[in-house]
Amino acid sequence: MSSTPEPAPPSFDAEYVLEMPLRCPSCGVEMSVVGVVRLMRTKVNFISMLPRRGHVIVCSQCRWILSAELGGVT
Ligand SMILES: [Zn+2]
Repeated sequence: MSSTPEPAPPSFDAEYVLEMPLRCPSCGVEMSVVGVVRLMRTKVNFISMLPRRGHVIVCSQCRWILSAELGGVT
C-alpha cells in the first residue's frame, strides 16, 4: 500500500489572505488565510426577503465557521 502523507486538502470555493494573522477561536492556530464557502438558498418562505446567496468564512485549518453573510457576493 502507498503511504498517506497528508489528508486531502480542503476544497474551499475560495481562499483569502488576511491583512494580518488572526488566531482561530477553535483550533488556536494563527491563520494568515481563511477559506470561503458559498451558501446557496434551497428553500424559502415566499414572503422572505432574504437574498439567494451568501458565504461562510471558515478557518482553513479546522473549518470552524468564523463568519457568515448573506448577499453581497458577485
Ligand atoms: Zn481553526
